[in-house]
Amino acid sequence: MNEHTFAEDLARHFHFSLGRDKVQESHIYLYNALAITIRDRLVAQWRKTRESRGSQRRVAYISLEFLMGRALNNAVLNLDLNETVRDALQGYCCALEDVEQSEHDAGLGNGGLGRLAACFLDSCASLALSVIGYGIRYEYGMFNQQIKNGNQIEHPDNWLRHGNPWEIAAPEKTVRVKFFGRVDVINKRNGEQYRQWNNTQDVLAVPYDMPIPGYQNGIVNTLRLWKSEATDEFNLEEFNAGSYTESVARKNLAEQITMVLYPNDSSENGKELRLRQQYFLSSASLQDTINGYLETHGNSFDKFVELNAFQLNDTHPSIAVAELMRLLMDDYHMSWDAAWNITTQTMAYTNHTLLPEALERWPVRLFEKLLPRILEIIYEINARFLRQVAVAWPGDCQKQQDLSIIEEGHGPQIRMAHLAIVGSFSVNGVAALHTELLKAGLFNNFYQLWPEKFNNKTNGVTPRRWLSHCNTSLSEIITSKIGKSWVADFADIAQIKKFAEDKAFQQQWQTSKKANKQVLADLVERTTGVKFDINMMFDVQVKRIHEYKRQLLNILHVISLYDRIRKGDTANITPRCVLIGGKAAPGYVMAKQIIKLINNVADTINLDPKAAPFLKVAFIPNYNVSAMEVICPATDLSEQISTAGKEASGTGNMKFMMNGALTIGTLDGANIEIRDAVGAKNFFLFGAQAHEISTIRENYQPNDIIANSKTLTAVMHLLESGHFNLFEPGIFDSIIKTIRDPQDMWLTAHDFDSYLKAQREVDNIYQDQTLWTKISILNTAASGVFSSDNTISQYRDEIWKI
Ligand SMILES: *Cc1c(COP(=O)(O)O)cnc(C)c1O
Repeated sequence: MNEHTFAEDLARHFHFSLGRDKVQESHIYLYNALAITIRDRLVAQWRKTRESRGSQRRVAYISLEFLMGRALNNAVLNLDLNETVRDALQGYCCALEDVEQSEHDAGLGNGGLGRLAACFLDSCASLALSVIGYGIRYEYGMFNQQIKNGNQIEHPDNWLRHGNPWEIAAPEKTVRVKFFGRVDVINKRNGEQYRQWNNTQDVLAVPYDMPIPGYQNGIVNTLRLWKSEATDEFNLEEFNAGSYTESVARKNLAEQITMVLYPNDSSENGKELRLRQQYFLSSASLQDTINGYLETHGNSFDKFVELNAFQLNDTHPSIAVAELMRLLMDDYHMSWDAAWNITTQTMAYTNHTLLPEALERWPVRLFEKLLPRILEIIYEINARFLRQVAVAWPGDCQKQQDLSIIEEGHGPQIRMAHLAIVGSFSVNGVAALHTELLKAGLFNNFYQLWPEKFNNKTNGVTPRRWLSHCNTSLSEIITSKIGKSWVADFADIAQIKKFAEDKAFQQQWQTSKKANKQVLADLVERTTGVKFDINMMFDVQVKRIHEYKRQLLNILHVISLYDRIRKGDTANITPRCVLIGGKAAPGYVMAKQIIKLINNVADTINLDPKAAPFLKVAFIPNYNVSAMEVICPATDLSEQISTAGKEASGTGNMKFMMNGALTIGTLDGANIEIRDAVGAKNFFLFGAQAHEISTIRENYQPNDIIANSKTLTAVMHLLESGHFNLFEPGIFDSIIKTIRDPQDMWLTAHDFDSYLKAQREVDNIYQDQTLWTKISILNTAASGVFSSDNTISQYRDEIWKI
């Protein structure tokens, strides 16, 4: 297998593995043949990587979400196969760009949290770290979003329909996961007791492995995704009662577990099936780790702590704390103390949000039925923990209540974040501000108890996918100046700073941006019918639709521009194309109304010929990883406008910055670090700060703010007069109400004027293309620290110690 045989291998797979004669209309078979040809090469390096690892310390990154996107081009880049593949494809009269469109995104995640897991896998492999990703092989990934009459319609994402050439099943590594049943107390002859979880309904977890290539370093790591399957055993009672068919039909129940990704981002819906997914993933991944360890270490757990660590991506897999205790005690007959030592020295927890609606709590009643043995263990963990609390705060019952893993009340609930903190040696936030807010607020009691557990790891994104691959024209001009070391060592990107005022370099920079804008304009026209003009500023906000992210504030600014155009006040308007995109959780009514509002405002403006020279607005449907690969290289202005203190980090902000967008944003999440890196004068700042929010809320009078702002009054007038919903009266009433509500959590009216002022500054600077281009170059040059390689180096050195 080398570059000389690549074309032959491709032909063999096309004609024989897949049995095709000629390139069909769709490129799907050619894509599949290409994927298998590349996979062969990955498999060879995979084996080498495995063999070279021996019994090294290993980290398991456990996540309910991996938002991988496409794998083909990433593999081509990381294996350095670009020219080889292009040469081989010539025989089929096909460009790589066409073939890669046949690949369906692996959309096994909602948004930032899932994409972070994907960027981390790329960085771990590129840094040659022994890290395995564990996740769920959802049959249906993130839903496909269609916009009909301005409303979001969800369609199932049947991403495996045409097969997945990248995965390799490993049925010999199948494990069993228990549900239901009861706990029996067994008396041993020596008077000791132990407990058995009996009469369970078991489900099989079958692993499917996806190769994760490092960047041109010969390393291939693994993402192991679990699929649930029924055991072959029939339910005997049913079987004997003659219910053969019912017994077989039970298979469905087992197979349901990994059927679909829950589409809730930053909010929980408390569905039982979701808890089953969480336990299924945690149990399977821990059993797999233990099996692998015992293969080389006989029956001794002496080296388990030295050789293993688990990183829990949010509380979603935090039940792993109790499950590891169960496995060690029940299956390997370890004492409580020995098992607890192992658990608390191997588990590490990453928190992703401060939003109360996103904090997971599960009813105790559900555990009693579904996971009775796990519930016992959680009670025991809690009892021992509360004794520690009593020592730290003698006689303080309130502290006991506040810290308890169980929230008492009519329906007692298990606080998964508390379980994660108590069971872990490390608790990290995902941006400097977020970690400080965790320590000072939500987890303050835990911080007082265990300050040493808390640490920050600011998120990052991989520069391979998010610059090298998605923006080839910019990558080429960067490389022409500073060489290509930056792809592997992204700190080197700082070297382009010295060309920020180089006229010829600026010219190339602008040419590249224009070309990228044309590619996006074509996509926008294809998907929405709206024609973007690449000579106008591209102003972009793409991310999940959520009130805290304030797409509403963005659209209010758009309405204010439209109002000025209507009034002929266009002298200082910089023409803009505003692009908004993102999915709303299917049950999140307000988010869906915001989508409708954006679409109605867009329709009104795009139909008005007076607006055309100054303003275009589009809502791009089905925002996903592949769309972002087209969007971020073409963006001039990146909108990062969350209410301060609500966005834990953000990673979209980093992708835009790498690609030379300027940011308009609040002091929130990683925006703060972005602004520090690029310099305050190269960032458009506005809005209330996190520490001011609680005081502002105490006496928040949005109606007064609106009355005192001429612009906001005009905007509200357009909204309230039904200008954007002439034939759909009342549909935006609840949105209008939240803006005027003194209880509005998101302080939209408060930040409006400040936002407008910052947008005027944006307009002014964009008029000076030389200055804008210089700042654009400075943004890319300062984005070095936001490489996920940098983030992962810190996980490696400060948490994982590998
Ligand atoms: C990067 C990314 C996100 C995260 O965006 P934020 O702006 O940080 O919320 C969400 N979805 C997709 C598809 C992404 O690529």
